[in-house]
Amino acid sequence: MADLVVLGDEAVALGAVHAGITAAYAYPGTPSTEILEYLRVHAARHGAPLASWTANEKTAYEAALGVAFAGRRALVAMKHVGLNVAADPFMNSALVDLHGGLVVAVADDPGMHSSQNEQDSRYYADFARVICLEPANAQEAYEMTREAFDLSERFRVPVVVRLVTRLAHSRGVITAAPPRDENPVRKPASPVSWILLPAHARRQWRALLDRQQAVRAYTAASRHNVLSLDDRELGVVTAGIGRNYYLENLDDLGFVPSHLHIGAYPVPAEAVRLLAGHVRRLLVIEDGYPYVERRLRGLIPPAVEIRGRESGHLPPDGELNPDLVRNALGLASRPGVELPGFVLPNRPPQLCQGCPHCDMFQAITRALDGYAESVVMSDIGCYTLGALPPYNAIESCVCMGASVGMAKGAADAGIHPVVAVIGDSTFLHSGFTPLMDAVAANTDMTLVILDNEVVAMTGGQPTLLPSSRIEPLLRGLGVDPDHLHVVQAHPRQVDAIADLIRRELEHRGLSVVIGVRECLETAKTKKQKIPEAVQV
Ligand code: SF4
Repeated sequence: MADLVVLGDEAVALGAVHAGITAAYAYPGTPSTEILEYLRVHAARHGAPLASWTANEKTAYEAALGVAFAGRRALVAMKHVGLNVAADPFMNSALVDLHGGLVVAVADDPGMHSSQNEQDSRYYADFARVICLEPANAQEAYEMTREAFDLSERFRVPVVVRLVTRLAHSRGVITAAPPRDENPVRKPASPVSWILLPAHARRQWRALLDRQQAVRAYTAASRHNVLSLDDRELGVVTAGIGRNYYLENLDDLGFVPSHLHIGAYPVPAEAVRLLAGHVRRLLVIEDGYPYVERRLRGLIPPAVEIRGRESGHLPPDGELNPDLVRNALGLASRPGVELPGFVLPNRPPQLCQGCPHCDMFQAITRALDGYAESVVMSDIGCYTLGALPPYNAIESCVCMGASVGMAKGAADAGIHPVVAVIGDSTFLHSGFTPLMDAVAANTDMTLVILDNEVVAMTGGQPTLLPSSRIEPLLRGLGVDPDHLHVVQAHPRQVDAIADLIRRELEHRGLSVVIGVRECLETAKTKKQKIPEAVQV
């Protein structure tokens, strides 16, 4: 096959296709979205694999697990905080004795380019006692994803492929290998291991622990963990793309430190001990939390100094880069290039001009005008930018779906009026369940669903259910039809919507207002598409 230039995310997707996956599932989330985007294009061109957006990461994971139950291979992709949502099936699937390959591609976001935290998915893999592979470039992303499926079937556990933003969204050249065929459908010989009743689960847990020795033997011998013993003073431990930053500075050091690169976890303990026995000082270069650095502290004698993100020799937060690593290696900073008079304009993120959310925020703000104490809980989407001037319209953004539950809690605590603001896709992701609590208690709050008919923030992926299905869904849930309204989110309607919301704020029970208008960006993209009939 010819070499290809692809994003790190796309390398993962292609690696999965060439590993013979039957299906892939994901919920969009930066920086992992492009994995399924690529697979959907591939599926449209070649008829396979099945590539589906799902309601949330948990449903994605469970669908992938079902494919593995059938003995076939499945990829599930998500951003790091999505693994919190999928944590329940993820943790338990480590116990079920997989016989079809299941790979979890998780893209972490050190530096929080578009996330609410910097959590490091290597801890999740460790928590579940499963293997984690961490590529440093697109080629490794491709190869490791392919290999991850083999490992999953060999050790009968899900395998995590951990990316970070800088790799997920960088392009690199990959050389692909011949594709492998799909597995045939093959149910487990006995489903007992999949039925995690306590008696079975205890046995499965013990079996998983017993397999750890074989897993450690694999990482000890893995070609992704490479040890070279050189300098006796300094040893460098790199993980994932930390290796790139280290190599970029290596020539300027004037000597070659001893080096252990870790691309496969659990951390290869014997290689660490060999390195620590050879040097007096270690520097750990890893993007994310000081995961390896902490593991080292339990593995090697205290006489060997360990430097890294936890010791303060590298910053404890944010993304690493070659200059930070350079300083940690004891090299002087490289002089920057002075560009006199060249000032980049400040471009804070903002809602598009004419965005339907602007109209709904104006209406909400007007409706709340005059109340001494009110609260507007919000969620995750473009509308989170309603926190910024000129809107200053929301007061929280914690995690997917939290607006609804937090509004209920604030109302329970005695605040009035309480508004929750959530997008259609986020509502279907995880706002629906807390709304059940609010319906059951007839909580004194107003839920405003901003229905722009797509997942706008991640590039306009389709919302799982069309707008027309949300109102009947709410009726079925038990929302009082007298306090359930669908309005057009339009500048000409702002006054009328504000009056409606004001009336519902005065209703001392649950009310829901759905503001519908398509995202402008999506509408624009649709118009630009040339209809197939006139394509030349
Ligand atoms: S992308 Fe769509 S939803 Fe997001 S701010 Fe722009 S118009 Fe609004």
